[in-house]
Amino acid sequence: MILRELFAGNARFEGLRTELGASDNVLATRLARMTEAGLAERIPYGGTVRPRVEYRLTDAGHDALPVLHALAHWGAKHTAAPERARPMAITCTGCGRPTRSADWCTTCDRPLTTERTAWTRPGTGGPPIRLASVVRPASPGTHVQPKETNP
Ligand SMILES: [Zn+2]
Repeated sequence: MILRELFAGNARFEGLRTELGASDNVLATRLARMTEAGLAERIPYGGTVRPRVEYRLTDAGHDALPVLHALAHWGAKHTAAPERARPMAITCTGCGRPTRSADWCTTCDRPLTTERTAWTRPGTGGPPIRLASVVRPASPGTHVQPKETNP
C-alpha cells in the first residue's frame, strides 16, 4: 500500500498516514524497512530551520510497477476489501482503456510503463493519477539530454 501511494505521488508522512490510516509507529517502521531494502529514499525538503523529509521511489521501487499491477488485478478478482483498501483502477494512457494485464496493454499492444499508465482511486471515479508525474531518479552516470525541437 505504501508503494502504491508513492507511485501515486503521495510522498509525505502525513499524507501517507491519512490515506492509509496507519499508526505513526507502523508507518515509520515500514518506511524505514522500505528505505533499507532500497525501494524508496528519503529526500529532505523545507530548509534547515525545520527540515522534513518526503519519500521517493528508487529505480528498484519503480521496477515494482508490474508487481503492483498484478496484485491489484488479483485483489480485484479474489478479495472483498473495504473501499479504502480496494485496488486502483489501471488505465493505459496510450489508448485510454482499462487493462487487466500487469505489464502490457492488450488493446494497443504496448508496455504499461509509468509514462503510459494512470490509476484511479477506488470509489472516487477520478481524476486519474498520471504515474509519469512521479519523479524517477536518474541512473548513476547518465545525463538527460534536452529533447531537440524542430525550428
Ligand atoms: Zn493501450
